[in-house]
Amino acid sequence: MNEQNNESQPTPNQTQPPQNNQNKPALAGMCRVCGGECRIQATMCDKCETALRGWIHDYPSWIQALREFLDSTAHYGGHQPGRVNLQSAPTPIRLSVVDHLQEIEDAVTALWCRLYAPPAMPWATSIAVPSIVDMLKACWSCQRLNRLPDIGLIWHDWERLARKTLAIIDVPPSRHGIGRCLNPLCGVELSAEVGAVSVDCPVCGSAYRVVDVRLGFLRECIESGRAFTAGECAELLRECGFQCNANTIRSWRKRGRLQPAGENDKGRPLYRLSDVHRQVLRRDSI
Ligand SMILES: [Zn+2]
Ligand SMILES: [Zn+2]
Repeated sequence: MNEQNNESQPTPNQTQPPQNNQNKPALAGMCRVCGGECRIQATMCDKCETALRGWIHDYPSWIQALREFLDSTAHYGGHQPGRVNLQSAPTPIRLSVVDHLQEIEDAVTALWCRLYAPPAMPWATSIAVPSIVDMLKACWSCQRLNRLPDIGLIWHDWERLARKTLAIIDVPPSRHGIGRCLNPLCGVELSAEVGAVSVDCPVCGSAYRVVDVRLGFLRECIESGRAFTAGECAELLRECGFQCNANTIRSWRKRGRLQPAGENDKGRPLYRLSDVHRQVLRRDSI
């Protein structure tokens, strides 16, 4: 039986083609991030490597933006009337940004240690851990980045980290500030596309109707005595379901029912939202 099988097998020069298929090199590696093909000995493909190096490259400026976020509230929405402009971010959001900065530092340190493997007892050789920006630069330029066997896990950690960072610092210009997150433990400024109906908080993940966030902002402005131009007052009140237009506000002023609380840098009179709101309620109750 065995002899028969051996005889039925083709001879070696029949099974082996003269050359390998050139389109599919037999020794190509597999990207441990996306599963695609990559160069021999590499653990990720060029595309995944470019993405990871891009995040590492951009992180020094992102960290800078996060630190500025702590010092003063990010100016979401530029100079839109709905912009909330406080001296400093509310405490809960400050804490979550502080946590996030720590998370970034931990990830950078871990990656740097993987690539440069400092001794387990640094005091023995007195090698200090470099600053976070220096570690990022070292990781960015490190040739061994695409040789790490566990790059799949590392890559996805960095992707998650970069997404979270960008959700905090990056507000596209087509969006405008609409008010604060209604979650009392969060309170971060929210922004939405013009005309959007719902909005998700990038920090705590709560979802709201835009009109509810605007109502919260209206209440806050009324309580704090903030003042806006007639047009801005009318716009905000209309968004919250009141009937109001700028000309009505100006006519109230002419009839002495409303006094401006100052003027903006263009010389336009500013009205306290609380005063305008009171007049709207008075008119509607007659
Ligand atoms: Zn890949
Ligand atoms: Zn929130």
